[in-house]
Amino acid sequence: MDRSDNNTLLIRLIGAAVCTAALIALFIFSVNNRSKDTAFSRNIFAMDTIMELAVYGVDADTATIALDEAESLINELDHELSAHDKESSIYKLNEAGEGILSGYARECFMLAYSYSADEELPFNMLILPLMEIWGFGDDSNEFIKDRVIPVPTEDEIEAALAYEDIDDIELSDEEGDSLYVRFKKEGMAVDLGGIAKGYASSLVMDLFREHGIKSALINLGGNVVTLGSKTDGTPFRVGIRDPEGGYFDVVCVSDMAVVTSGGYERYVTGEDGKVYHHIIDPLTGRPAESGLISATAVCTDPTLADVLSTSLFIMGREGAEKYASQHIGELEILLLCDDGESLHL
Ligand code: AMP
Ligand code: MG
Repeated sequence: MDRSDNNTLLIRLIGAAVCTAALIALFIFSVNNRSKDTAFSRNIFAMDTIMELAVYGVDADTATIALDEAESLINELDHELSAHDKESSIYKLNEAGEGILSGYARECFMLAYSYSADEELPFNMLILPLMEIWGFGDDSNEFIKDRVIPVPTEDEIEAALAYEDIDDIELSDEEGDSLYVRFKKEGMAVDLGGIAKGYASSLVMDLFREHGIKSALINLGGNVVTLGSKTDGTPFRVGIRDPEGGYFDVVCVSDMAVVTSGGYERYVTGEDGKVYHHIIDPLTGRPAESGLISATAVCTDPTLADVLSTSLFIMGREGAEKYASQHIGELEILLLCDDGESLHL
């Protein structure tokens, strides 16, 4: 090989390297470009409901890692916060009347405790004995609609109401992050069902943020939470379901939780032929009859939105209007009334 051959080879090698670099650059550009507009989504079944998670504007690897971690986190919370999973610290606390809580169970318990102590809200974490007499003593949602229950007697309701005084919970800090909890009355029991999905969605959003995700939308069984806006900068549009079909309203939101509670989500049939749903008024000890089909709370904190939607459903239209007037600028409320009227407060 003479010098001119060497030069030709060198030019070819440089040419090939340039072409390869250009191809790699083009590939990276097209992957990035495509991924900016792609939603990576995951459907899972946890906490007795279908959950949908979608992240936008990130590459496939980041999305897959974040969605995998979110799925494990939700499964861990499903177990940890359950009043029915025999291995959970909440179940053990309910069985023994005392116990130690730590980590997520402690944090969610304490949030539920403070909302239960808030006299403005009919939220009560000690609702489990009432849930049980109304046929919601387990978490098997599947056939619950077909379940026929004996209607609880006045005495049974009175007895269960005696277990819901939040002042009958004794708390003390233990070593590390542990909390010692004791119930003063035998028979008291905690149910985090009215807050667990909101708490879980708030942790999932924290996790997405840690992965650098700036745009996401999750729906944990009626608990919709948005992170940022859509990748084109416009807000997400979230439809508020009408159980008769379709949507009765739409809200446009960024960085916001939109949580709906409705009696149609979970119910049983009494031996008297009446339908009884799963949201209990802690004053009467009966499924709330507030004239609402559903109540939706829109605010920045997903856990609070979950607590509020359950509470507003119990409070009814008048209670919700009063609450809205006392919390101007903190939340939006959407109500679907049983006379067909819908309100946006
Ligand atoms: P949600 O679907 O968020 O409205 O929550 C309903 C769930 O909250 C029920 O299935 C119960 O587990 C629980 N729950 C029912 N009534 C109450 C109440 N008054 N306060 C707190 N939690 C409740
Ligand atoms: Mg709730």
